[in-house]
Amino acid sequence: MECMNMLKVSRFAAKKIRQGICLLDSRDFGQVPMDNQPVSLMTEQGDYLGQAYLSQQNKGIGWFFSRENVALDQDFFENLFRKAMVKRHSYFQSESTTAFRLFNQDGDGFGGLTIDIYNQYAVFSWYNSFVFSIKDTILQAFRQVFPAIVAAYEKIRFKGLDYESAHLYGEEAPSELTILENGVAYQVFLNDGLMTGIFLDQHDVRGSLVDGLARGKSLLNMFSYTAAFSIAAAMGGASHTTSVDLAKRSRELSQAHFKVNGVDLEHHHFVVMDVFEYFKYAKRKGLTFDVIVLDPPSFARNKKQSFSVAKDYHKLIAQSLDILNPEGLILASTNASNLSLEKFRQELEKGFGNRKHRYLTTHRLPSDFAYNKKDESSNYLKVFTIQVQK
Ligand code: SAH
Repeated sequence: MECMNMLKVSRFAAKKIRQGICLLDSRDFGQVPMDNQPVSLMTEQGDYLGQAYLSQQNKGIGWFFSRENVALDQDFFENLFRKAMVKRHSYFQSESTTAFRLFNQDGDGFGGLTIDIYNQYAVFSWYNSFVFSIKDTILQAFRQVFPAIVAAYEKIRFKGLDYESAHLYGEEAPSELTILENGVAYQVFLNDGLMTGIFLDQHDVRGSLVDGLARGKSLLNMFSYTAAFSIAAAMGGASHTTSVDLAKRSRELSQAHFKVNGVDLEHHHFVVMDVFEYFKYAKRKGLTFDVIVLDPPSFARNKKQSFSVAKDYHKLIAQSLDILNPEGLILASTNASNLSLEKFRQELEKGFGNRKHRYLTTHRLPSDFAYNKKDESSNYLKVFTIQVQK
């Protein structure tokens, strides 16, 4: 594939690209007369910047990928995949963790693509229609570098197709597949919508729970999805967990993680409820917890209200303080890339008001989620462990 077309970019966009930022932000570009193709980027003065491709996606209008003139052929991707493999050496060797991210967008040299490994299966995510259009090349390169991955699935993370998940090649995985992380089993599904039952970017946070952060304690898991934090805590010795999510299906999916680890459900509860309703319910019933995990979606809207991490997170903190035991812990997590670590901390502070508290640890993306070191926003995960004083 040759890059025939040229695009001149503004001084501001050129500066960002020279700094190493790869995502082409639509706000830095005017009307772009092309879409879904590779282009050579030039400065206003006509100096060569490098290669990019244009394709509309959720965030941005395309990705810069090389300062040199390179073709997006099988060799190009084989090269990237070999480098990606080397970076995940310890994950490939591990017997206690069998699911991880193998390729992470611009962190591995090509934005718009992620590849996750679940045992011997791969899950490809295409973030725009250009990457999707060259998927045969990408898959051929992948199969060359990773012959031991027996089958693959795809997730469509852009608008315009009539499906979002499909089988790509190889023998189908069982509809319920068990993977391991830090020695704990999780029940995942590779071909049912965009989600798989586990968010792999929380490896390290779940790891801290498996290592005993909530040992002997009661834990409330808000926005629990499949209750992955709860099973990690239970395996790490938590005496009791309560998982709250408003999606009906969350209960069954959560129980599956507990069953596959052989954990009795007597001390583990699953509540299908809006979290703000649950805060009220807990206060009314006098329920209190030693550890509260908060991990909301960046933005959510339901019938009654909308929630955004940037504007509303402080309410989750304030509500949590009312039902947290003395010296309790709050695990405050967000994956909002538009919110810096400092802005997130300020939002949390708003919720603490003048309640005394101490930041114990900060988790960012785990090592398999290689991010673009020149673009702080690509290290999107932020998780604080905070101890609240009496
Ligand atoms: N903490 C989870 C991931 C959360 S994903 C994990 O580690 O796996 C976000 C979840 O929030 C979704 O399952 C969604 O159903 C739930 N959700 C969104 N708004 C909610 C609300 N107001 N109350 C309860 N759950 C909510």
